[in-house]
Amino acid sequence: MIAKIIRGSEIAAQIQEELKERVKKLKERGVTPGLGVVLVGQDPASVSYVTAKAKAAAEIGIYEETINLPADVPEEEVLKTVDRLNRDPKFHGVLVQLPLLKHVSTEKVINYISPEKDVDAFHPVNVGKLLRGEPCPLPCTPHGVQELLIRSGYSPEGKHVVICGRSNIVGKPLAAILMQKKKGANATVTICHTGTKDLPSITRQADILVAAMGSPKAITADMVREGTVVIDVGVNRVEDPTAARGFRLVGDSDFETIKEKAAAITPVPGGVGPMTVIMLMMNTVEAAERVAG
Ligand code: NAP
Repeated sequence: MIAKIIRGSEIAAQIQEELKERVKKLKERGVTPGLGVVLVGQDPASVSYVTAKAKAAAEIGIYEETINLPADVPEEEVLKTVDRLNRDPKFHGVLVQLPLLKHVSTEKVINYISPEKDVDAFHPVNVGKLLRGEPCPLPCTPHGVQELLIRSGYSPEGKHVVICGRSNIVGKPLAAILMQKKKGANATVTICHTGTKDLPSITRQADILVAAMGSPKAITADMVREGTVVIDVGVNRVEDPTAARGFRLVGDSDFETIKEKAAAITPVPGGVGPMTVIMLMMNTVEAAERVAG
């Protein structure tokens, strides 16, 4: 079997068109969705993520403003900036680019974001609502994985989804989303981690296997049953002297060998990555729609 390649970039482009329409309708009602982004310092990876978010917002018609604070800014100043964005009705979504520098508490900053404007959906109130199945913004990467599955014709409903990774931003919320008794979810979910015994025996039971481990090519072909759908969330830099930048990006699964056996697989890059950004835009548009009534 040769796997179908699930191109997140194409699905994200479809969603972008849908969001443009929704933004147009909001603007007709006098509401321009606004996204406020706080960036502390100039870490190159963070700068590139923030730039991608600003570009995506501009393409959809969302007003975006990035507040770049210096790397040595006191924590108090970060909190004040978040507070200012929370209070400003121009912004329907507020996010702080992670990771933060050591002297600024990530927990404190996330807790400071107004839950209504929390478009990353990391605030404990939203995490709790997600687990309880109450309406709330959904965290972007796991929500992107769900959309990717549904829109490519591999609905997780009734399927056994094995997720490798239990982080607060990917593994755990993805399990919470897919186990809900809801359309596009209702899956049987197994979560694996470094404490899991005999990982391959579990991954081989998956109808849908999600790799979110942060470990290059950790999922090998022998860990995948014929006909499985493999979603690779991992983004890892590996040295490559032939590449212009001296490195290339690989996922957490061994794409080349797994594609010979899986029913479908996402590439890295161009798979889950573009979905994360577009789901952030969706959360911002939804927050504006809530305000518009
Ligand atoms: P993380 O916080 O480092 O968590 C990794 C998880 O994988 C942990 O739960 C860890 O288990 C588990 N794990 C690691 N190696 C394992 C192994 N050999 N066997 C079984 N479990 C293993 O990472 P993350 O933030 O969730 O991110 C995961 C990957 O996704 C990274 O490559 C990251 O760059 C990428 N990512 C991509 C996007 C995107 O938009 N495409 C967004 C977010 C993250 P323990 O809990 O036992 O340590």
